[in-house]
Amino acid sequence: MTIDRILVVGAGQMGSGIAQVAAQTGLTVWLQDVAEEYVQRGLARIRDNLDRQVEKGRMSADERDSILGRIRPITRLEDGRDVPLVIEAVTENLAVKKEIFKILDRLCPPETILASNTSSLPITEMAAATNRPGQMIGMHFMNPVPVMKLVEIIRGLATRDDVFQTVEELAKRMGKVPVEVRDFPGFVSNRVLLPMINEAVYCVYEGVATPEAVDTVMKLGMNHPMGPLQLADFIGLDTCLAILEVLYEGFGDPKYRPCPLLRQYVQAGWLGRKSGRGFYRYDG
Ligand code: NAD
Repeated sequence: MTIDRILVVGAGQMGSGIAQVAAQTGLTVWLQDVAEEYVQRGLARIRDNLDRQVEKGRMSADERDSILGRIRPITRLEDGRDVPLVIEAVTENLAVKKEIFKILDRLCPPETILASNTSSLPITEMAAATNRPGQMIGMHFMNPVPVMKLVEIIRGLATRDDVFQTVEELAKRMGKVPVEVRDFPGFVSNRVLLPMINEAVYCVYEGVATPEAVDTVMKLGMNHPMGPLQLADFIGLDTCLAILEVLYEGFGDPKYRPCPLLRQYVQAGWLGRKSGRGFYRYDG
């Protein structure tokens, strides 16, 4: 099956990035969120990204306009139902995602593939909420989507081989490098990354060092392009906490216990870059 159009559910950081890259690949994209203002915010983010490409001379204004013309903003899932592939990118919450897949299973044609951009949640459990577990798959893009090359493609227990191949082929067309991963908590990327971020938060919590010091050690000492706390702010501290909870519960291993300071920042609404404050301040 060749994918020529997709529905992206959730127009946040990731959903808007996925929609942009898909439209740049020539696909028609329906971009859905629960309220008009959220869809418009996602579209504005895409427009800003493309405008920057035009300013740098990497894209013509005509190209930008035709990419934007391929993105259809919607608030009702029904309006984007007739597609061969849906990519869900809503908040990292299993109950919310399962409910969305249940609705999509009812709305979409029988052959439609359902993909989740989840960072850590079980694809197999989302699949069980539908009547098409063989057509459920994980398509885990990295942030920012237009820049990062990797897509982890996660096979649920029942994912069909032809579905895997279709999604793998699309990831390549989108200019990405797909890597096959099996469905266990955190997959590979976040199972390795989040314990490092959590340990960095513990260093601040225990007064070992300031956030700036922790990040400088990792940048200059380990050659990381971004320190772990700067990266956590970029990912979103709520998303980081949610992933750690999945690792902690999924493996039942105390080594994944989220740092109380991370929990407290999330309670305070200090979610990182997207809320203006996390381990660093972004409010000017
Ligand atoms: P975000 O908070 O920026 O965006 C989430 C969007 O989902 C919001 O616009 C919200 O209004 C929308 N939403 C919530 N419930 C919805 C519903 N029922 N129907 C439609 N839209 C709904 O979050 P994000 O960073 O874009 O993350 C989205 C997903 O991508 C999560 O599963 C996350 O784990 C995953 N992810 C995030 C990153 C990252 O670095 N932020 C990287 C890879 C994967």
